[in-house]
Amino acid sequence: MGFNIAIDGPSGAGKSTIAKLVAKENGFIYVDTGAMYRAIALYFLDHGLEISDAKDVIGHLPEIKVGIDYENGMQQVLLGEEVVTDRLRAEAVGNIASHIAGIPEVREHLLAIQKDLAKTQNVVMDGRDIGTQILPDADVKIFLTASVDTRARRRFLELQEKGISCNLEEVKQDIADRDERDTKREVAPLKQAEDAILVDSSEMTIPEVVETISKYVKG
Ligand code: C5P
Repeated sequence: MGFNIAIDGPSGAGKSTIAKLVAKENGFIYVDTGAMYRAIALYFLDHGLEISDAKDVIGHLPEIKVGIDYENGMQQVLLGEEVVTDRLRAEAVGNIASHIAGIPEVREHLLAIQKDLAKTQNVVMDGRDIGTQILPDADVKIFLTASVDTRARRRFLELQEKGISCNLEEVKQDIADRDERDTKREVAPLKQAEDAILVDSSEMTIPEVVETISKYVKG
């Protein structure tokens, strides 16, 4: 078993930015599980498939092959043979991902790949259910959060920087909707594990958050 760091938290809390830096500082690999759900979502989007009926979604799972590879320490996500990493961050993809992630069979489809990575390597893995379901025995568990306003502002600036036009109120509503879906779903809802350390980054800089988490890694 590798040394495992689990970072869970709501959309826009900065999990991937922080997890990447913690991984780099400690020489671990970064595993972005949200990207795996996004890859499945991209398949449905690319093929123009409906996701409103869970049975239809489940019926397509056998043809969806999600793979993970590492290139210079950066996670690359494969859908079949195609590297799709750069296409996963679109809002439409995130929205579909948050809908299909509530289907138990979809989660099951990604379970082995997530557990295997943590078994064989030292990982920083981020997601919603890492500390509670995927790596319940993780060496360090962090629940990283921030206020809805802070998360909306960060996401808004990130989209603007990418040249994507958006409206702050809509971004905030979108984040609130995702929080609702992720925390209220029956299967693997987003929640803080009992033994997770709560880090609220609303008033913290990125280096402060990284330093706080790295202290727990070094003991
Ligand atoms: O973290 P990210 O925004 O990339 O995740 C996309 C969606 O995938 C989330 O809204 C969430 O519903 C789902 N997800 C999940 N479990 C994880 C990671 C992501 O349900 N471990």
